[in-house]
Formats: sequence, structure tokens, C-alpha cells
Amino acid sequence: MTSFRTVLVPHCEQCQSAVTDEEGREVTVTQRWLPDDLHDRLTGQGWQITRGDRHRNNGVHDTFGGDRLRCADCLARNAAKAAADEARLKEAFASPRVKTVDLSAKLGAGVTLSQRDGDAADHCWLVEQGGAVRGYVQRYRRKGTGTFSTGWEAFYRHTDGYFYRREAVMSCANSDRSNYLWSGRDVAAWGVLANPWSGADRPDWARRTTKKTKESTA
Ligand SMILES: [Zn+2]
Repeated sequence: MTSFRTVLVPHCEQCQSAVTDEEGREVTVTQRWLPDDLHDRLTGQGWQITRGDRHRNNGVHDTFGGDRLRCADCLARNAAKAAADEARLKEAFASPRVKTVDLSAKLGAGVTLSQRDGDAADHCWLVEQGGAVRGYVQRYRRKGTGTFSTGWEAFYRHTDGYFYRREAVMSCANSDRSNYLWSGRDVAAWGVLANPWSGADRPDWARRTTKKTKESTA
């Protein structure tokens, strides 16, 4: 390698478009960090640049420590998609609630579970706090048979607007062998809001009972 040096072409990590100069030629650099003048030019043109960690740099082949670039077109596309997703969700959340259960005594001020038209058939409840949708819980519908499990799935709404699964903590799991499902609706909602650690105790209001009562939804 003594007679050659490796050059790198910085490009958008999403669409792979190369950074170009005024004449449209690809820009080359010798390290996975942008020189300051190039950084400033690209920032001025709407690129998003996440600075790499220079302490982790292991040379030109290191794919971890370098700067990360995203072009203005991709950022605009991403923003448009996020806005469309947000609008779709907003519309879905705007549907009137046909049933609302106040869970403030268990889960804190302003917490409700509510259903829109059609949610009852899916055993689905929105978890809302102060009117904002924080997530939802639903009985698990078995693949194939389509029948409902006694266990509940929990999904929390991340700051990016999307919903992500929250696995059951051991004390509230529907099965000793799996943390896929929560044992009840209200502990699943608790999981959505509290994000308890995996070894957390069941909340006081959800102490296990030996026989099923009308409160077995907890
Ligand atoms: Zn791009």
C-alpha cells in the first residue's frame, strides 16, 4: 500500500449521493471526517452532518467513528413522510371515543383507557394521559386461528411518533416462559406509561389473586 493512498468520497448515508464540488465532481477526502470548510459549505446547503467520534477512529476503513451525512433532499423527503404519518395518526386519534375508563387511581392523574368505534372487537384500548395518546394495549390475537390470547400486548408511542412494543416485566408476564405478553390490560397500560425495569414488582393494585374476579383485567 505504500504507493497508494486511500481516498474517501463523502456521501449521503441514505441515498448514497456523493458530495460534489462546484463543477459537479465528486469530492474526495482522506479521513472519515469532513474538513471544517467542507462541513460549513454542506451545512449551508442543508446537509445534516452528525460528527463522528475522533477517539474511536481506526483509520480510513473504520466505519464507526466517522462523520455521518444526510443530504437536503433526503431530509425533506423524511420530513414529508413524517408529516404524512403524523397526519394519518392524528386523524385516527381524532375518531370519537365510544368508551372511556378512568385509570387515574391506578396510573396517575389524567390517565384514561379509551376505545374508538371498532376497537372493542379488537380488544384494543388507547392509553391516554391528559388527552395525549401515549400508547395502546390490546389482547394478542393468535396467528392462524385468529382467537384472542388472555395476554396483552403493549405499545408505547416514542418521541418519533411511532409505536414500539414494550415487553412485559417478569412479575406481570402472562407466561413464565415468555415476556411477550402482559397478564392484564391495566398492567400493560402501566408498562406503556412507566417503562418499569424487567425485575420490577407488580404494582400494589395488581396483586395476583388466586381466583378470577371481575377485576381480573388488572
Ligand atoms: Zn440523500
